[in-house]
Amino acid sequence: MEQNQDVNQNLQPDEHSTEAHLIYGQMQDPHWDYSHHVIPPMTASATFRLDSAQRGAQGFTEFAHHTEGMSIKTRAPIYIYDRLGEPNKDMLEETLAYADQGDIAVTFASGMAAISGVLGILTGSGSEIVAHKTLYGCTYSLLTNWYPRQRITTTFVDFTDLAAVERAITKDTRVLYMESPVNPTMRLVDLAAVAAIARRVNATRSNDERLFTVVDSTFATPFCQRPIALGIDFTIHSLTKGIGGFGTDVGGVVVGPKWSYDMLMLYRKDFGGILSAKSAWPVLVQGLPTLAVRMRQMQGTALKVAEFLSSRPEVSGVFYPGLPSFPQAELARRQMRDYDGQFAPGGMIYFVFQGESPRDSLNRAERFINHVASHAYCITLAVSLGNIRTLIEHPGSMTHSAIPAEDQIAKGLDPGGVRLSIGLEKPEDITGDLRASLEYVR
Ligand SMILES: *Cc1c(COP(=O)(O)O)cnc(C)c1O
Repeated sequence: MEQNQDVNQNLQPDEHSTEAHLIYGQMQDPHWDYSHHVIPPMTASATFRLDSAQRGAQGFTEFAHHTEGMSIKTRAPIYIYDRLGEPNKDMLEETLAYADQGDIAVTFASGMAAISGVLGILTGSGSEIVAHKTLYGCTYSLLTNWYPRQRITTTFVDFTDLAAVERAITKDTRVLYMESPVNPTMRLVDLAAVAAIARRVNATRSNDERLFTVVDSTFATPFCQRPIALGIDFTIHSLTKGIGGFGTDVGGVVVGPKWSYDMLMLYRKDFGGILSAKSAWPVLVQGLPTLAVRMRQMQGTALKVAEFLSSRPEVSGVFYPGLPSFPQAELARRQMRDYDGQFAPGGMIYFVFQGESPRDSLNRAERFINHVASHAYCITLAVSLGNIRTLIEHPGSMTHSAIPAEDQIAKGLDPGGVRLSIGLEKPEDITGDLRASLEYVR
């Protein structure tokens, strides 16, 4: 025990950088009993031995009762069953909350399970959601195909028009929901300004009627922006993307205020969308420790690739927050910052093909993508993003096909738009592959 205390004394994360904390987390905290492991073991146990009926009873009593005066970290938690909580997930959640500067984090089976988890605790029959007009296709489908069955309705507005957001809020609005950068258009939402709108509305509302802000920050990762530090209530991520990074596992997380922890844990227990311990482990020991290095490398490459694309006659528009020509360059510089305060525009690019008509532009995008799929070595036609490999896709016919074709243009989705997620390859390898396919569609 004394030895453990020595270990603990060496662990003063606050005296070190955030990046150090993403590598070390609380993996050596005596509460986890892994103080002699450099890498914590994968805690693959569906159920846990309880020493006595009393200990089992105590575990059930304490589950999801942290915010009523019980501290989360005064002693080792009593684990009962994986769906209620287990060590790998707890270690991962501790680091994810720290990475996004929130009080708590709760992981889920996927990004979509995290989105339905946070919306599940914030809304009920009769609630309204105000959401940005462009959203990830499955989120759009959740809001338009499923929630109306529970009498939860969504009004879509352009969140770059703050007056329109204010006008759309009614007494039943419980959530302002947005992505920034928006998937796939790379438009940004001014998160501090949206948080200020919610604060103004809440000044005259009771606690039961509070309006909450939720940001899907998947495109940015916690390395490039921390919405909670800008006044947002909840940040969600698909762990499948930049945080996981290696493309081996699907997962999601909600980061938020302390009061929401028990609600999210109870929701997850009863709806059952838990992250498997075997999927929490690679995010904990590989994804988060390499997040900063990967993102710094990717955004250096992304800038060079975006500059290359801007110089090409086949391309009519390139949207990358790091380009001086980016339409919201000032907001990008204000909002997207790494842990040291450096500008961090991320590794995602959206670009649009030149064309006489939308149909013409779409044809070129499709021919280009097909050429990439069959000829490129360093660019893979695949959905997902934030991967160590460069991935390309056509949102109009793939990730965002849940949005009807006739609505896509109004939502800022160009039929000839292509989404590019930069990986760890050298910039010249990526631009060489792009050049060959661009010349083919010229
Ligand atoms: C992929 C993605 C999701 C969904 O995440 P899954 O892990 O695939 O469920 C949600 N939002 C954005 C912005 C995404 O890119």
